[in-house]
Amino acid sequence: MSDRWVIVVHEAVKTYTVGSVEVQALRGVSLAVEAGDWLAVMGASGSGKTTLMNIIGCLDVPTTGHYMLDGIDVSTLDDRELAEVRNQKIGFVFQSFNLLARTTALQNVELPLVYAGLRARERRRRALAALDAVALSDRTEHVPSELSGGQQQRVAVARAIVTDPALILADEPTGNLDTVSTGDMLSLFGRLNTEGRTIVMITHEADVAAHAKRVVRLRDGLVIEDRRQGPVAGPPPQYLQPPAVRV
Ligand code: ADP
Ligand code: MG
Repeated sequence: MSDRWVIVVHEAVKTYTVGSVEVQALRGVSLAVEAGDWLAVMGASGSGKTTLMNIIGCLDVPTTGHYMLDGIDVSTLDDRELAEVRNQKIGFVFQSFNLLARTTALQNVELPLVYAGLRARERRRRALAALDAVALSDRTEHVPSELSGGQQQRVAVARAIVTDPALILADEPTGNLDTVSTGDMLSLFGRLNTEGRTIVMITHEADVAAHAKRVVRLRDGLVIEDRRQGPVAGPPPQYLQPPAVRV
């Protein structure tokens, strides 16, 4: 498996059983996403977006079919292994920011590194670099209630990139933002993508999707449209990686 494909979903079917009724949320979705791409997933309510995102985000597995994330076949992993892959490979951004209250921006951004087992000093160094990358170096000691919605979502983006993940997965990231903050968020995503980061973003809004490089539309659990509207970005800079140590 080359580095080129961050996501390879092959014939994914997801069936939910409700009482005696079977609901097919996904009816055979195949989707491959290249490193450096920026994908918008669109579709009406009930079309399967959340189900697909849960599978891509390793929060759930398909009933049948396969999913390779950054070269790893995750279809067969158990819950503990899925949690580990999530922590290592994916940075999540949610509509409602999902920051810990009464916890500073810096501590929120450090959290994925705590789970990853990094030492305090290295955590702090990387978290400060990530906050700098989202232009929040002057807000590191603020708690979420002291930040605007747009700033809170930038903290969430810093938390998403701090582990240097293969994929940034954003579920309606601008859904709770005003027009100005939405614009800021889209330019931030644009910059991260230009630097080579791979982004998959769910959105209902056509003018938000317009910023992505590729738009995939779902209907009734199937991909009905897959349209490229810009080129895939170059290789990542890895500016959050520690410098090489000479001995
Ligand atoms: P979207 O996010 O596009 O609104 P979903 O993926 O949430 O779509 O849902 C797709 C279909 O699967 C819908 O018909 C929905 O009712 C059904 N569905 C989703 N999750 C469940 C579940 N946990 N149990 C039963 N049915 C579900
Ligand atoms: Mg949904």
